[in-house]
Amino acid sequence: MKNKKQILTFFAGIATCLSIIAVLGAANSPQSPVEPIPNLEVYYPGTEALGADEMRVTACGTGMPNARPKQAAACFLVELGNGDKFIFDIGTGSAERLSAMKIPYDYLDKVFIGHLHADHFGDLDALWVGGVLANRQRPLRVWGPNGPEKRLGTAHAVEHMKEMFAWDYASRQGNVNTVGFEVEVTEFDYKGINQIIYEENGVTIRSIPAIHALDGPVSFILEWNDLKFAFSSDTFPNTWWKEYAQNADLAIHECFITPWDLVAKQNWAVLDALNVGTQVHTSPAQFGKVMSQIKPRMAVAYHFFNDFDTLPGVMEQVRTTYSGPVSFSTDYMVWNVTKDDVRVRMAVVDDAVWPLPSITETLPADPKDKYGFSDFLTNGRQPFSDVVRQVYEDTNKQFGTDYTPPDD
Ligand SMILES: [Zn+2]
Ligand SMILES: [Zn+2]
Repeated sequence: MKNKKQILTFFAGIATCLSIIAVLGAANSPQSPVEPIPNLEVYYPGTEALGADEMRVTACGTGMPNARPKQAAACFLVELGNGDKFIFDIGTGSAERLSAMKIPYDYLDKVFIGHLHADHFGDLDALWVGGVLANRQRPLRVWGPNGPEKRLGTAHAVEHMKEMFAWDYASRQGNVNTVGFEVEVTEFDYKGINQIIYEENGVTIRSIPAIHALDGPVSFILEWNDLKFAFSSDTFPNTWWKEYAQNADLAIHECFITPWDLVAKQNWAVLDALNVGTQVHTSPAQFGKVMSQIKPRMAVAYHFFNDFDTLPGVMEQVRTTYSGPVSFSTDYMVWNVTKDDVRVRMAVVDDAVWPLPSITETLPADPKDKYGFSDFLTNGRQPFSDVVRQVYEDTNKQFGTDYTPPDD
């Protein structure tokens, strides 16, 4: 009996010790239910300071020319530790992704367009007009190549975009400040080889020719703080990329969907799939060859619909020709690049995003600029002055202002 009691006491003692160890362990754990986990495996826009030596690149469009909810068309945002930000391509649907980065629109004012396909600049109007309404109070600056003739160049495209939006612009005059409606275009020679097209604040951006669909396209190389970012936009494999994108820290190059999936998923004819998939664009196996030549610290494949049933085929093809580091990108993939590390994560975004205030004092609209209505429409107005007057009174009370409705 005595022995049994001693044995029970012994086990009870061990259990108590284990409980104490467990409690102490929990107290020291960095991942207890009430402590934040220090190393987030995702990127929440607007929550992380960028290191002074760091580059952050976010995929705001990685898809194809045809629209889909999962992937916008080509767009990559580059943010540097010195505060500078650059947009490379602004394909259809990408303006929405840019908005999710929670950056004041005054900083989203520099766009580099590789070529004038809609899937590479189709959302320029959304960034331009939407940016003004989201508080951008400085001109939009656009860099892009000329073409084999004037009407095929970037300046012509932007000039006629403004013409297309003539009603939009006229309608906003006097209702919002229109400083942000100004567009400054820098058009450069598409045949320039490693030509400097931007040099400010320690950042150098160069262009090299690209081979894609028609004369005019270019690829870009950004260098800052001993870091090198290369972006192909669209191109067939070429000698300039091979020479000037060498050893990039981050090399983003198109990698089209396989010809087989262009037939099976996109429902194209076989000959069109082969032509577009290997001659107009760079196929996954060609992408692997390109990356084997330039040996980047991190290769990034984009320009394919990245799904559970298409990715394996793309990966398999790339791996026949390249064994180095590679990210098979999709929208909201993020790369934090320093000399020591290339960290790859996904951003988790707030769908219900609002624009931040301008970094400068808010410039009000000048009502004198209003275009105005014809008498025909003015005579059809129903002002409902009683309720509008009440809205003005409530607003004045809330903001300490003293405005009166124009119809009073
Ligand atoms: Zn293209
Ligand atoms: Zn494209």
